[in-house]
Amino acid sequence: MTHCPICNGSVEYKSEMTTYSYKNHSIKIEQSGEYCTKCGEAFLSAKDLKTTKLQIANFKRKIDHFLTTDELKRIRKKLHISQQDASEIFGGGIRAFHKYETAEVTQSKPLDILLRLIDENKISFDDVKSIAV
Ligand SMILES: [Zn+2]
Repeated sequence: MTHCPICNGSVEYKSEMTTYSYKNHSIKIEQSGEYCTKCGEAFLSAKDLKTTKLQIANFKRKIDHFLTTDELKRIRKKLHISQQDASEIFGGGIRAFHKYETAEVTQSKPLDILLRLIDENKISFDDVKSIAV
């Protein structure tokens, strides 16, 4: 794209600080994409959006009180299990934990609660495993 389809101004590829809002909360994120130098309109490709996807997903998870992708990974590693092991124990399909940890899908609330309880040593992981498998 060389010209803005809205105002016909010139478009350049750059990185801009943009504000992302969700449920009365907002964060500033650096979003690369094509921006019109005249009207400021942003034209973001799927590739541009992918670079900020994780940041936005984790921002929403924090507001909705869900474990973030890093927290999930930390807990799983603490339990010494692979993504595949975790998916077998907790269900959701073979790629479930891969999807949760890459923010493709958000884990269910009951799973989120269960993982927090295990992480805080309020439920033993051995007990969970003995029931699950
Ligand atoms: Zn424009």
